[in-house]
Amino acid sequence: MKIETRAVHAGRHTDPATGAVTAPIHLSTTFERGADGEYPRGFSYSREDNPNRHSLEQCLASLEGGKEALAFSSGLAVVTAVVQGLEPGDHILAPDDVYWGLRKVIGEVFAKSGLETTYFDMTDVAGLRAAIRPNTRLLWLETPSNPLLKITNLAALAEIARKANIVTVCDSTFASPILQRPLEWDIDMVMHSTTKYISGHSDVVGGALITKFDNYLFERARKAQKYGGSVPSPFDCWLTMRGIETLPYRVRAQCENALKIATFLSGHPSIEAVHYPGLPTHPGHALAANQMSAFGGMLSARVRGGREEAMATAARTQLFIRATSLGGAHSLIEHRASVEGPQSRTPQNLLRMSIGLENAEDLIADLEQALRADS
Ligand SMILES: *Cc1c(COP(=O)(O)O)cnc(C)c1O
Repeated sequence: MKIETRAVHAGRHTDPATGAVTAPIHLSTTFERGADGEYPRGFSYSREDNPNRHSLEQCLASLEGGKEALAFSSGLAVVTAVVQGLEPGDHILAPDDVYWGLRKVIGEVFAKSGLETTYFDMTDVAGLRAAIRPNTRLLWLETPSNPLLKITNLAALAEIARKANIVTVCDSTFASPILQRPLEWDIDMVMHSTTKYISGHSDVVGGALITKFDNYLFERARKAQKYGGSVPSPFDCWLTMRGIETLPYRVRAQCENALKIATFLSGHPSIEAVHYPGLPTHPGHALAANQMSAFGGMLSARVRGGREEAMATAARTQLFIRATSLGGAHSLIEHRASVEGPQSRTPQNLLRMSIGLENAEDLIADLEQALRADS
């Protein structure tokens, strides 16, 4: 079945008790045992499993083409669960421009865990071989990356990691399963902040880990979820399932809008550079065209005049909302460096945009008036 059909049907069924087409929300924390002491319907206690979470996990596994999925209470709970599965002395390879929260988890939550981490430019495929150590256990990837939209060659890096017996995880949040399915490029596990495109309406925080086949880090992440308790609520799972029904169509519209906006910005005199993989001038354009089905709804632009001008431009937008996060119906704009804080490596004149579902002409008109004062 095609992905639009799976988005509507995978993991879902009409409610056997009532015939309800849309699933009920199962708030019950506990489930009845059979006379023999077994759990005939498969559920015992909601931290361990819940019908809404079960549906969501089945649906996510189907969308990514994986064997199994685990739903978590946030994207960073997934990162925490995976890193927790490593052992003291293990070495992690992660992108030098990785989502900043991963650096926080490794550097602060796991500060005393004895893990070693190298942040590496994953576009340097040849250089990666030399960065691998005998104790490297995890290769963490993120593509497109945040906020420069760098594209990583998933198939090439998966091959290198497989030969060295290293587990690979790709944070595919920016792409969503609609645009890119890392497991098809032989990556072992996919991670999502379902907070973003997958739930898609800026109203639920969640995360997911989907695996291609059984592996020890997935099993340990399962324990962190079930026994460590980093589980999403039934309502969060329900909202995420509701969002997934329209995911393919939302993402398609967001990609179309983003390409129009990137094209407009790249011709504007107040803009120094546009980072969008859909532009032929983007260094990862050919690779993105190969491993993604479209180029996504995220883009960044560098404004002439530095930090002050970037801030002032964002302040003048009227339709774009100044807020962090991405993947929702509203277009958002943010001065990324100041969100990331003093250690940020993001250029000071960069504005990151999450393109929403408004009409592209209205969005362009808004950017045009916001940029006009600078030119
Ligand atoms: C938001 C985000 C995360 C973290 O997810 P939360 O749901 O906020 O915990 C991880 N990776 C990327 C690429 C993100 O955009």
